[in-house]
Amino acid sequence: MKTAIATVSIAGDLGEKLAAIAAAGFDGVEIFENDFLAFDASPREVGKMVRDHGLEISLFQPFRDFEGMPEPQRTRAFDRAERKFDLMNELDVDLVVVCSNVSAISLGGIDRAAADFSELGERAAKRGLRIGYEALAWGRHVSDHRDAWEIVRRADRANVGLILDSFHTLARKIDPDTIRSIPGDRIFFVQLADAPKIDMDLLYWSRHFRNMPGEGDLDVAGFMRAVAATGYDGVISLEIFNDQFRGGSAKAISIDGHRSLVYLMDQLKRAEPDIRIDVPAMPDRIAAHGVEFVEFAANDTEAAELSAMLRTLGFTRVGRHVAKQVELWRQGGINIIINTERQGFAHSAYVMHGTSVCNIGLRVDDAHATVERARALGAELFEQHVGPGELHIPAIRGVGGGLVHFIDAKSDLARVWDIEFVPVADDTQSCDAGLKRIDHMAQTMDGKEMLTWQLFYTAIFDMAKTPMVDVIDPSGLVQSRAIEAPDGALRVTLNGVENRRTLAGHFLAESFGSTVQHLAFETDDIFATAEALIANGFTPLVISPNYYDDLDARFGLDEDFLDRLQSVSILYDRDGDAEYFQLYSPLYGEGFFFEIVERRGGYGGYGAANAQFRTAAQKRHMRPKGMPKR
Ligand code: MG
Ligand code: MG
Repeated sequence: MKTAIATVSIAGDLGEKLAAIAAAGFDGVEIFENDFLAFDASPREVGKMVRDHGLEISLFQPFRDFEGMPEPQRTRAFDRAERKFDLMNELDVDLVVVCSNVSAISLGGIDRAAADFSELGERAAKRGLRIGYEALAWGRHVSDHRDAWEIVRRADRANVGLILDSFHTLARKIDPDTIRSIPGDRIFFVQLADAPKIDMDLLYWSRHFRNMPGEGDLDVAGFMRAVAATGYDGVISLEIFNDQFRGGSAKAISIDGHRSLVYLMDQLKRAEPDIRIDVPAMPDRIAAHGVEFVEFAANDTEAAELSAMLRTLGFTRVGRHVAKQVELWRQGGINIIINTERQGFAHSAYVMHGTSVCNIGLRVDDAHATVERARALGAELFEQHVGPGELHIPAIRGVGGGLVHFIDAKSDLARVWDIEFVPVADDTQSCDAGLKRIDHMAQTMDGKEMLTWQLFYTAIFDMAKTPMVDVIDPSGLVQSRAIEAPDGALRVTLNGVENRRTLAGHFLAESFGSTVQHLAFETDDIFATAEALIANGFTPLVISPNYYDDLDARFGLDEDFLDRLQSVSILYDRDGDAEYFQLYSPLYGEGFFFEIVERRGGYGGYGAANAQFRTAAQKRHMRPKGMPKR
C-alpha cells in the first residue's frame, strides 16, 4: 500500500507542506483545492513541483454538492465539474473525491444519484479521469458508506468507484466489517483519521478534532483490517482536520503522520498474515520491563545539592565511572547516575537545560531489536563516541531530545554497572528508606506535543494510553495522560502545558524544554519510608490541613490513620478497595521533584484527585524570582 496525506492536514503554504510531506517519507499527496487556490503558481507548475519532490498527486479534493440536484442547479453542477476536470488534467491527477451532497435543496433517491454519477463518469472518462464517491457522516441523503457503495454499484461505470474514510464510518458507529463485502477493486481510495471520543456535532468534531490513527479512540485498525480483507491494495491517506496540527510544525506533524501509518500497517500485517502488506519488516512492539537507570546532567555545585537530596531519600553512592566524571547512586532496584562531564551529550544537555534528567535507560528483552523497531518508525537514533572499556548501548532520542538507552539481559549490557563502574565506599551513611523501583516517570511537554509522544511510546513499545485527565493548577490547566506497559513495569505520565504560569509550564520554560519533571519511587511501606526519610533529614512537602479535613469527609477515615497521614504529609487516594499513598519532596531547581508512592490492592491510577492540592503546596514553596536559595 502506498501512503499519502492531504495537504489540508498540516501547516504552511503549499511549497512548505510538500517539502515536509516528502521528507517524512510519504509516496503521495491529496491536493486540497484551497491550498492550490491560495498558491501563486499555475496548475502545471504545481503538478511539476509535487513530482519534483518525488511525490505523486494521489487525489484532488473535494468536489461538493453534486448528486441529486434539481435543475437548474444540476446543469450548473456538471459545468462546475467540467472546470475541475480541466484543472485536474493540468495538474496531472486522475482521481477526484465527490463528497455526498449536504445541500438543503438536494433530492434523495439512490437511482437519481446513480444516474448523476453515471453521467459524470461518462464525461470524466473522455478526459481519462476517475470519480470517487465518499459518504460524509453528515450528508443530507447519503451518510453511510453502504449507501454510497450502492450508488456506485448502480452507476455501473468502471471509472466511478467508492472512497472510504474511517472517520465517517466510525464516527457514526457503522460496523466497519460491512466493508468486507465490497469488491476491493471498486474502492478507489482510502482516507484514514482517528479522533478522541467527544460527544459533539459530527461536522464540528470532524473539522477540528481529527488526529492520526492510533492517537485517538476510534477503531481505525479494525476499519483497516476490513478494508484489507476486500483485497484493496491502493493508497492509504491521512485526511486530518485538526486546528492544532494546522498551527503546528509541518515537519513534526508529517513525521507523526507517517509513523502512524507505518505502525498501522505493521499491526495490520500481524493481524492478517495472509494479506500481502508492503511495509518494512520490523520486530513487534517491544515489551518494556522497567526503568534501569535515570541519568542527571549537572555541574559540580548542583551535583553536590542533588547528591545531598538523594542521600536524604536513602540513596547511597555505590560507584564511579571508570573514565568519566559520573557517579552511580543506588537504592533497591533504582539506579541514579549523576554526570558532571565537561563534554559529550550530558554536558550539552546541562548547558541547554541546567541540572536535569538527560538520559533514561529502559530494560527490554533485546536492545538491538528495540532500536530496529524505533528506526523503522522514524525515531532518531543516537550515537556517541564510545570510550575504551565502555559498552555500546543502543539509544534513540526521546521526548524533548533527551536520550533513551536500552539495556537487555541477553548481552553484556546488563553488566554495565560491573563493566563501566568501579565500586566506591560511601563514607556518609544514610538510612535505606525502602525505595524499591521507579513506579513512574512524569514527562512535561508543550500541550501541542502530547499526541506526538503518546504515539512515540505506543508505536514502539507494548504500552497503552489511559484517558486524559485535567490537573488543575492554581494558574491554569495541565492535561495529563499515562502510557503504561500491561503489567505496569513501565509507567510514564505525559503532562501537556498550556501556559507558563502553571508549575509544569514554569518548569518547561525555565529548564528550556527539559522533560522529566518528577520521578516517583515505589515503596512497600510508606509509613516506614517516611520515618526513615525524616531520620535522614528529609523534609516532605507540607500539605494544607484543609486537605486532611476533606480527606476525612470523602473517605470517613479512622482518626489515628488520618493523623498518621497528616503528621508526615502523606496524600491518600482510594479506588474501591485499592489504596494509593503519595509523599513529595520539596521542589528542586525550577520545578523538578521526587515523589514516593505505595500502591495497595492493585491501585492503578496516579492520585489525580490529589494533584491540585500537591501543586498548590509546591507553588507556595517556590522560591520567588531573584531570591537566594535557602
Ligand atoms: Mg474524507
Ligand atoms: Mg506522580
